Amino acid sequence: MNDCIFCKIINGDFGTEFVYENKYAVVFKDINPKAETHLLVVPRLHVESLNELDDKDILGELMLTVKAVTKELGIKSYKTLINTGKEAGQEVFHLHIHILAGRIF
Ligand code: AMP
Repeated sequence: MNDCIFCKIINGDFGTEFVYENKYAVVFKDINPKAETHLLVVPRLHVESLNELDDKDILGELMLTVKAVTKELGIKSYKTLINTGKEAGQEVFHLHIHILAGRIF
């Protein structure tokens, strides 16, 4: 049994609301926001980090998901961030892209 917290969220175990979803990824609000808008783009496929993902289609789809969700929410200016590895600050070992917009806390 996979005890990855993001896999559980994707599976609907916690009833987390998805602000956007498609075939490749789900997007939900970060539980501990570091900005007025702080979203996480999470691939449905479990991969620990960017280092473990070589699939060009999924890599491309994740970036397209960033563009789609920001466009849908009318967010024109934003930062994206991927923490890769514990020493870089990665806490959840299921690849995700942070989207930070508005005032940064
Ligand atoms: P990272 O440090 O890049 O691994 O980021 C992990 C992020 O996941 C942190 O910003 C956490 O606040 C966020 N997080 C952890 N658990 C949850 C959860 N259950 N729902 C939403 N966000 C979460």
